[in-house]
Amino acid sequence: MRYPVRMDDTIFDKILKREIPAEIVYEDEETLAFLDIAPNNPGHTLVIPKAPSRNIFDISESSWLAVMKTVRLLAPVIREAVGAEGINIAMNNERAADQEVFHTHVHIIPRYHGDGVLSFTKKKYAEGEMATVANKIRTMVGS
Ligand code: AMP
Repeated sequence: MRYPVRMDDTIFDKILKREIPAEIVYEDEETLAFLDIAPNNPGHTLVIPKAPSRNIFDISESSWLAVMKTVRLLAPVIREAVGAEGINIAMNNERAADQEVFHTHVHIIPRYHGDGVLSFTKKKYAEGEMATVANKIRTMVGS
């Protein structure tokens, strides 16, 4: 299977280069965080690495760790800022998983009881399928 490569100059690259405006809430050497223009709830924030990558499949470990560090810093601040009762940390990788912008980004989504934001639906494994899938992952990751 051929996997897609990163497209240059996504809308987030333009935000990084300050070519288009954004409500930037945090920046450090390796990451930038700004408000999502179409939030699930107010305060919905996107954290992106400055180094180019498409998503979880091609991001370097150091760039990913920098994003995670910023997510951990911001989640409690955002919760406090908007009085959220919970926070989802979410990431869409590839079109099948609803990725629309092909520059790595992690969503920080403030949540409230009964806020109507849709969560993932759950499915059931067929007989034996759970063990088969687990075995395959264990073998491939080498554990
Ligand atoms: P995803 O589906 O994970 O690729 O999410 C892309 C997100 O980027 C969506 O939630 C959009 O609302 C958001 N978005 C798109 N354009 C902009 C923009 N110019 N500024 C801020 N957020 C944006």
